[in-house]
Amino acid sequence: MTLALPPLPYPHDALAPWISAQTLAIHHGKHHQAYVTNTNSMIAGTAFAAKPLADIVLATAGQAEHAGLFDNAAQAWNHTFYWSSMKPKGGGRPTGAIAQKIAADFGSHEKFVELFTQAGTTQFGSGWAWLSLHRGKLEIGKTGNAGTPLTTGATPLLTLDVWEHAYYLDFQNRRPDYVRAFLDHLVNWDFANHNLAKA
Ligand code: FE
Repeated sequence: MTLALPPLPYPHDALAPWISAQTLAIHHGKHHQAYVTNTNSMIAGTAFAAKPLADIVLATAGQAEHAGLFDNAAQAWNHTFYWSSMKPKGGGRPTGAIAQKIAADFGSHEKFVELFTQAGTTQFGSGWAWLSLHRGKLEIGKTGNAGTPLTTGATPLLTLDVWEHAYYLDFQNRRPDYVRAFLDHLVNWDFANHNLAKA
């Protein structure tokens, strides 16, 4: 069984002007594709070959002999989750169950924005910012490199890729502006509600 690169859930130019068509074409078509290709070449002929991607991530986490496979498989999983964490004309205030949960667990949407911005801007070097559900409560966190809350037993609800390849063409060094664009214009709250409902 070979893993496939899932198609982007929207056209390359759908998130402009916040994330350009050029960024999405390279990020999805080159970076994400490379993680999928590398994972396929590493699992070929092994016991991992028949497993779903998330199972490969969980089975290789924290195991030195599988570090390369974990990095590529987790990056493949994280990127698919990231594409769905955004939508055209997204962002702003949430609706539905996630809105109530944010108010209950963080106090306000403003506090969520403050904490998520802090996570995204203070992740040193490459990594990810996350909104997850952990033991029934919302949690905001950050992971380095290919790290993912999947391996802590949390249920990811949203993620933001803060590797430079995600924003450098559009924002150069201004990562805080990219985080703000994500929160104000791109967050897919429908996806967060969908993930919360099945958690
Ligand atoms: Fe990326």
